Amino acid sequence: MAVAIEEKSSQLGVVDYNTLIRNIRCQYRCPVHMDIPEYIRLIVQGKYNESYNLMRETNPFPSVCGRVCYHPCESECKKGDTDEPVAINNLKRFVTDYVQSHTTKPSPKLRIKQREEKVAIIGSGPAGLTAAYDLANLGYGITVFEKEPVVGGMLRLCIPSYRLPREQIKFDLQYIINLGVEFKLNTNIGKDLTIDDILNKGYKAVFIATGAHKSNSLGIPGEDTKGVLDCIEFLKNVNLKKSFEIGTKVTVIGGGSSAIDSARSAVRLGSEVTIIYRRSREEMPAHSMEIKEAEEEGIKIKCLASPIEFISEDGKVKAVKCIEMKLGEIDENGRPRPVPVPEKEFTVETDFVINAIGQIPDLEVISGSSDINVSSKGTIEAEDIILRTNRPNIFAGGDIVTGSGIIIDAIAQGHFAARSINSYITGGTSGARSEEILVSLEETDFSERENNYDTIKRQLPEIIAGEERNMSFSEFTKCFTEEQAKTEAERCLHCDKTIEIETLDCVLCGRCANVCPTNAIHILTVDGKETRFRSFIDKEGIVKYKDRKACMKCGICGDCPADTIKVKKVVWR
Ligand code: SF4
Ligand code: SF4
Repeated sequence: MAVAIEEKSSQLGVVDYNTLIRNIRCQYRCPVHMDIPEYIRLIVQGKYNESYNLMRETNPFPSVCGRVCYHPCESECKKGDTDEPVAINNLKRFVTDYVQSHTTKPSPKLRIKQREEKVAIIGSGPAGLTAAYDLANLGYGITVFEKEPVVGGMLRLCIPSYRLPREQIKFDLQYIINLGVEFKLNTNIGKDLTIDDILNKGYKAVFIATGAHKSNSLGIPGEDTKGVLDCIEFLKNVNLKKSFEIGTKVTVIGGGSSAIDSARSAVRLGSEVTIIYRRSREEMPAHSMEIKEAEEEGIKIKCLASPIEFISEDGKVKAVKCIEMKLGEIDENGRPRPVPVPEKEFTVETDFVINAIGQIPDLEVISGSSDINVSSKGTIEAEDIILRTNRPNIFAGGDIVTGSGIIIDAIAQGHFAARSINSYITGGTSGARSEEILVSLEETDFSERENNYDTIKRQLPEIIAGEERNMSFSEFTKCFTEEQAKTEAERCLHCDKTIEIETLDCVLCGRCANVCPTNAIHILTVDGKETRFRSFIDKEGIVKYKDRKACMKCGICGDCPADTIKVKKVVWR
């Protein structure tokens, strides 16, 4: 893929796409390409509102993501090559907490020129609400149809409040409400209304974003026994504060995030909890931090075991019969296949079981619209990036297309859907898929840095101990203090900046190469051989070479006597 570079002078050039992937790794890896380096720099400058506003340009859920995003950006952070990565997510949380605690009025109602066309969104999770936000900002009349009595989808129904306090959802949601988006709650599309009914009401397009909220079945005897519940039902009961009976000895089957959320919720309701997972701990799909935190809260994890039968007494579950497993050959998903070990059965006493072996989309939403294509995996078929189904005015995205995924991927899908729907309505066709990412190069300066910024250790937020926090649904990870946030932000290497050396003006004094602490600047002859720092001009001139990977944008070389060294910021658009 090529990337078009637009200089301030509006001259277009094309550079190697890999340059961006290799050099601005956090921003590239973020599915919505948040301008992470810039919002971190604004924290160093104490410009928290500006940092927040920049976050909102690409992500309508900064408060939510500051808590529960699995931050794939951090796993790619360049600082992590030599030290621990920058704590990007804790920095985001600091900014959103700061803005919330310093906001006296709710965000203003925006005046946007309204368009005549209406768009229907089915599902009020992150994908649906992102599309609603983008399209409402373009002036479309938006109605969001939601099956449940609350807005938020998985954020509200499945993620426990100790990880995501409800005020965070409300804060982000208020921006969407202020755009005049209409919500129709308790409306089950596919049952109360069909998608064609919606289109017949004059909506120009429909975006299906109902997620993956149906639990996979275990397919073993006794699954219907009283006391065996699927994790979505269980988490909904907990998060909507419904009254229900839970046991004292709870067994959770599965190793993903929903299993961990269920187990940690059950512990907070006073139960003793054991997780049973069929592969080894290394293969557990849940984030390693969540697994560690669950164990700190007293949850036992039994790996390499699988349930084969639920045993009941008086119509209620009293034990799970399991079999030991071992790891076999690698399966089609690249994970070792769990294989039962013959005659290695054992029984776990329990009075409540939560099945959390994975979620799939509930296709009831397309009942009555059976001409919408469905894949063999039970997801709706939609074109990559455009998200158009086989019907031109029906789009689908998020988990109902991709299968169960992470929040920030769903937000990215919401953006794609909004762009395609706008393109469909304004141009009569769905948006053409773009192979280009546009960036511009803007002149900037080296930022002032603390003297010791390259040796600062990663800051850690205060966390309430496991044996104390496992009794409460209150949030247990504290926010960075302002001092911690500024210190952590200093660690960023400013990978979005690029240094250009205007070789024609260079007098070859060699100062830059001498002072560079990372040996990023070399002086080469045109044939690539290193030369001494003295004037040497052949007919093609001298070429200076900079090792961009090594450069940490410290700015020491910027004091060039011939003023040949310029810094530019790469801005994604
Ligand atoms: S050092 Fe800063 S700019 Fe570079 S990848 Fe990490 S967070 Fe992003
Ligand atoms: S900014 Fe610092 S690390 Fe980068 S080339 Fe200049 S002196 Fe070297």
